[in-house]
Amino acid sequence: MVESLYGTDSEQKAIWVLLEQTQGTLEGVSLELLSHGRALADEVGWQLVALLLGHQVENLADEAIAYGAEEVWLADHPLLEIYTSDAYAKVAGEALLEGKPSVFLAGATPNGRDLAGRLAVRLRAGLTADCTNLKLNPDTGVLVGEVTGFGGGVVALIEAPKHRPQMATVRPGVFPAAEPDPSRKGRVIAVDVELSPEMLRTEVVELVIGEGVDLTQVPVLVVGGRGVEGNFDMLRTLAEQLGGDIGATRPPVDDGYIERERQIGQTGVVCRPKVAIVCGVSGAFQFTVGIQDADTVIAINSDPQAPIFEYADYCIVGDAAEVVPALTQALLSVERVPHA
Ligand SMILES: Cc1cc2nc3c(=O)[nH]c(=O)nc-3n(C[C@H](O)[C@H](O)[C@H](O)COP(=O)(O)OP(=O)(O)OC[C@H]3O[C@@H](n4cnc5c(N)ncnc54)[C@H](O)[C@@H]3O)c2cc1C
Repeated sequence: MVESLYGTDSEQKAIWVLLEQTQGTLEGVSLELLSHGRALADEVGWQLVALLLGHQVENLADEAIAYGAEEVWLADHPLLEIYTSDAYAKVAGEALLEGKPSVFLAGATPNGRDLAGRLAVRLRAGLTADCTNLKLNPDTGVLVGEVTGFGGGVVALIEAPKHRPQMATVRPGVFPAAEPDPSRKGRVIAVDVELSPEMLRTEVVELVIGEGVDLTQVPVLVVGGRGVEGNFDMLRTLAEQLGGDIGATRPPVDDGYIERERQIGQTGVVCRPKVAIVCGVSGAFQFTVGIQDADTVIAINSDPQAPIFEYADYCIVGDAAEVVPALTQALLSVERVPHA
């Protein structure tokens, strides 16, 4: 077995969380990881440390402290302003070798996945990717990452007891973000950064930020499956009536009816809405994992035997093309009573 660059003999009992920021705003998944990391660290009496890379982003350190970090390691450099694999892997790798934490967590975002994979190779540490839950064994300090495998048929518990840091990526929306506590105190530690353009193979020519949708935070999610036959307009109208947004199962995404960023499930987004209305969806595990933390699930399906009805709190047997407009119409006729 290949040994990691540092091991259990020299590890510092700390959980490090990578903070991802875009143009000076922290990603939601970073706050979720800080919140869950804080809870794990409290269980075992460890430190929670945030690793922040960027340029002129010191103000984000306070936010990380409010979410539970005791220390923020801040790497500030103009070449870190925009994420590049080379620069971030070099600086984060050096910081990890200096801090030698037991655990390192990153969001399973495009950049988080890219960076975590590179760091795992550099540190020879291994990586549990795309976790749907994380626990720490209080007796051994071993991180246990929960990962779904074989198309969702198996939930695997993965450990790396001998390698450090124990690394994992977690999908956005898996953990709730706690309420920040601005009265928390913490230390900001400046990381030495040695970077020059010649060290990097990437040059950022232009930064284009897409519109982007964040379905992880919507209160009401109206989901269309293959059974709505691409009629997402009617779902959008219903969602708008309820102050929510729309998502989809994989088939309509594959068929090009809706953007991939709206796919819910194992290979899509994990959401925790108050209400999920799922229309023309059969209820495959790979989909339901994406709404497993919804407070209430309402299913509309023309097949009374559809497996989604086993899962839903409220079941409507019927043609989505008839039920959805009827629901929207009913909502339109409801007299809205303003909150006192
Ligand atoms: C590794 C892997 C990862 C995957 N990841 C995901 C993922 O992230 N997200 C995801 O969604 N899937 C994922 N899948 C695919 C998943 O297994 C299912 O195939 C998919 O969720 C089925 O989508 P569906 O329910 O829309 O379609 P179907 O299973 O075809 O179901 C359509 C449903 O619509 C109903 N229906 C038909 N007509 C009407 C109508 N007029 N009114 C009302 N109901 C109607 C039918 O009764 C049926 O129940 C993954 C699969 C694999 C192997």
